[in-house]
Amino acid sequence: MSALHLHCQTLFDSTGLETRQQQTLVVENGLFSYVGPTASAPSVKPGDNVVDAGDNFVMPGLIDVHTHLAFGNAQSEEDIDIWTTDEFRALRGMFFAQHVVAAGVTSMVCPGDSGQLSIAVRNAIAAGMFEGPRIAASSRVITNRQSLNDWFPSRVGAPEYFTARLVTSRSEALAEIRRQAKDGVDLIKIAMDGTHRRPNGEIIAAFTAEETYEMVEEAHRLGCKVATHAYGREAVMYTAKAGVDLVFHAFYMDDACIEALLESGSILAPTMTFPQNTVDFCQPHDPAITTGYAGYCARTLEVGSEVLKRAKAAGIPFACGSDSGFAVTPYGEWHARELELLVKRLNFTPAEALYAATAVGSRCMPRGETLGTIEVGKQADFLLIDGSPLQDIRILQDRSRLKAVYKGGQLMKQQRTPYNPKQVSDFNSLKWTDLYTRDRVAELGKWSL
Ligand SMILES: [Zn+2]
Repeated sequence: MSALHLHCQTLFDSTGLETRQQQTLVVENGLFSYVGPTASAPSVKPGDNVVDAGDNFVMPGLIDVHTHLAFGNAQSEEDIDIWTTDEFRALRGMFFAQHVVAAGVTSMVCPGDSGQLSIAVRNAIAAGMFEGPRIAASSRVITNRQSLNDWFPSRVGAPEYFTARLVTSRSEALAEIRRQAKDGVDLIKIAMDGTHRRPNGEIIAAFTAEETYEMVEEAHRLGCKVATHAYGREAVMYTAKAGVDLVFHAFYMDDACIEALLESGSILAPTMTFPQNTVDFCQPHDPAITTGYAGYCARTLEVGSEVLKRAKAAGIPFACGSDSGFAVTPYGEWHARELELLVKRLNFTPAEALYAATAVGSRCMPRGETLGTIEVGKQADFLLIDGSPLQDIRILQDRSRLKAVYKGGQLMKQQRTPYNPKQVSDFNSLKWTDLYTRDRVAELGKWSL
């Protein structure tokens, strides 16, 4: 088997926060077999492939711990749950997985999904049928009446094809976890809170502490990791006490939650990209603006940044997630924006942000001990960047700077096949966003008597 020799002037291997100069990487059978000074690198054998990375910055592939393959760049919750079949969603998810890896994301966690979509996409990629990232697969989000994902009126519930599994008892929750584990998920996602609040405005946890503990214990017993959606203090506290592996958001937690998270060793992925994009990019006619949702996102980021800064200072490990899969976070576009937000909002150094998006993220992946850093024996997932993200973290969002993406030692083709969003994502039946009374159309100058 021929080896790949890559000479690089600047290497960020993510084992720490330092770069090293004049290094050589040797890749055999998809794994690094040598990482060290070029001067003492093994000699090139006949048939070996030698690549000079030149001035390019070499770093591990990005790991996005929050990308939803089922959502299809959705404009609404109805888009996510109602308008498409599981078969169409799977094909679409496979297509967009290629856009994800083309953006330098060599591993991703899919927290919350429909049916067996991410399991199927994960397996198709692993079999070599399509190019795509490594995937930590899940299935439907475990939800109850007070959870985020029980979007629709109670009489609708959550039919089989929804991305949430509505449970109304402990036994239903445990049965669902067991079914998902049998089907081959890598992680269970629990929606630990939603929009249900106390009269004083505090978000109420959807499950009790005991229910949370029981679900997490069963998932762990069956070899699955657990990720939770948790905005509020109570949800974060129950999540931490139950020993959840990966906690999303935590914008409204308090200092007691930080202590509990430190104790549990949970990884925190605030996933600020979704609310920040909503604040920055929405237009006046978008319902996100007209309903006040964007304003809520802005306040959430303001409040959340303060407590998240304290969590960072306390030593909680942070990973990077983008919540890609919505119309405001399309696949392949914004995965690296979370690193910029860690730097700008939470006082991370660029090197700390790179570490979060690689070494820490790998701990959320199956066989994570083989991912996330550039070291002998690990999977050869790495990027060549024109310029240093340590000088400017934003260059990771510049497509023209991403010179090469390698996964398992293979150069990715970085295919971003164009597509028609009207035939892929825009299925909602919204036709009017205004009320056309005689006064209103007269005001618009479109009608008069
Ligand atoms: Zn999400």
